[in-house]
Amino acid sequence: MTTDCLFCKIVAGDIPADIVYQDEHVVAFRDISPQAPTHILIIPRKHVSTINGLESTDQLLAGHLVLTAQKLAREQGIDESGFRLVMNCNQEGGQTVYHIHMHLMGGRQLTVLG
Ligand code: AMP
Ligand code: ZN
Repeated sequence: MTTDCLFCKIVAGDIPADIVYQDEHVVAFRDISPQAPTHILIIPRKHVSTINGLESTDQLLAGHLVLTAQKLAREQGIDESGFRLVMNCNQEGGQTVYHIHMHLMGGRQLTVLG
């Protein structure tokens, strides 16, 4: 755990979050400022600051983020209507929290990416 990391604190239970799923490797919780009717963040329990920090040994973990998103999309009932998965990296990618996370967004018509 990185002590000054917001999402590590959520993983540790030190900061409350609306957790919708968790297992040995990942935690998923509702975004505090939702941009769509369904807006969930899926994060690894392990601290990795940016996508640039992923290593080849993280291959299963990276895949697990996607498969968790797939499962949650199905549970939220947005698998057939459609959804978007986004991971932002560094400043120009729009990353604001430096613990990697996958956004799962759906429940409305999403427009083109900015
Ligand atoms: P990004 O801009 O890709 O780094 O996304 C960070 C996301 O974290 C934003 O959508 C924020 O609304 C969300 N966020 C920030 N703090 C919290 C929190 N305490 N609980 C849930 N989501 C948060
Ligand atoms: Zn962290």
